[in-house]
Amino acid sequence: MRAVGLYKSKPGVAIADIAKPTIARKTEVLVRILSSAIDGSDFSLIKNHLVEPPQDEQFMTLGHESVGVVEAIGADVKNLNVGDFVVPTVRRGCGLCPACQANMSDYCYTGLYKEHGLHFLHGFLTEYTVAQEKYLVRVEKGDLPIAVWVEPASIVVKAFDQMLRIQQRVPSACSHLEHDWDQSDWPGCKRALVLGAGPLGFLAVAWLRSYGIETYVLEVVHRDALKIQMVKEMGARYVDGRNFGPKKIMEGIGHVDVIFEATGASDVALSFIEMMSRNSVYLLMGVPRAAENNICFDANSMLRHIVRQNQVILGSVNSNAEHFRRAVEFVRTVNAKFSGILERAITHRFTLDQYEQAFERGDDRLKVVFDIGTI
Ligand SMILES: [Zn+2]
Ligand SMILES: [Zn+2]
Repeated sequence: MRAVGLYKSKPGVAIADIAKPTIARKTEVLVRILSSAIDGSDFSLIKNHLVEPPQDEQFMTLGHESVGVVEAIGADVKNLNVGDFVVPTVRRGCGLCPACQANMSDYCYTGLYKEHGLHFLHGFLTEYTVAQEKYLVRVEKGDLPIAVWVEPASIVVKAFDQMLRIQQRVPSACSHLEHDWDQSDWPGCKRALVLGAGPLGFLAVAWLRSYGIETYVLEVVHRDALKIQMVKEMGARYVDGRNFGPKKIMEGIGHVDVIFEATGASDVALSFIEMMSRNSVYLLMGVPRAAENNICFDANSMLRHIVRQNQVILGSVNSNAEHFRRAVEFVRTVNAKFSGILERAITHRFTLDQYEQAFERGDDRLKVVFDIGTI
């Protein structure tokens, strides 16, 4: 079957012919892939030629955001049937640690996990995949146009879930007698800053705005750019990072309860740490790669600031099947609330053979999807 990915021996994305996977264990399911999307992680693997193929192989298929249809099931599969639509999770646990044994491999202690399309397992930019039933999350036929968003949405759901737990520790910053909105699990008016309006930042805005939180988005593109129009459509306010530095930006916004960093640029990420408000949380989502990126900063000042102001800097990665299930609800809600915005944010569609065009860059691109199979 055709697969788009990376060879260990040569740089750049390529198409290959790999063996179709088969059901080897009774709990496994054969999934025929319908669509797969790409994101910043795929570009980062390509750019930095980070290739960790499955054991004894020289090629790794990319892609970890996908939806497919069940084509065959093992004898012990209980809750899925042929014809069901499913979104596969990405990480396969080490099987050794308490987190993985509790189906929470996103918190794996050993680091011996594998990840489809990223780390020792073929990804989903191909025609078939096999997974154990517990790693497949069911969606309905009506979800298919937005189902490729479930994986990145699960990352956002997990990150904000942790933020909500952390912020239970502090009283609300606002002193209104009556709020414009009220969330039982995070009471009072809240304000957020999202750094970057790529697909992950876009989903963070969707989460925050569906929660009713006053949201600002920092980007460095013209305000007419599609991604800016879309975050504004959800009620976020655009901050043009080409015009203002971090200090000026935070002075203009005021107290911010949470910063969601989705640029993956360490200079941007670091520059906002000292700009954090009191008692606030900084969610670090980007994964910077380039090793030569040395940055000078005043470490004493930064650490003093964090301690004296009760701040939390939290890294969050990956997600588990439970986050995926909640992400299905989340993408349905957002898409309905903002007039099909997740469908409209899929700006480009390609076939596997058009992989070279699919991996081009462009300011007019938000979500890029490969159409692989039909129902
Ligand atoms: Zn583990
Ligand atoms: Zn209020």
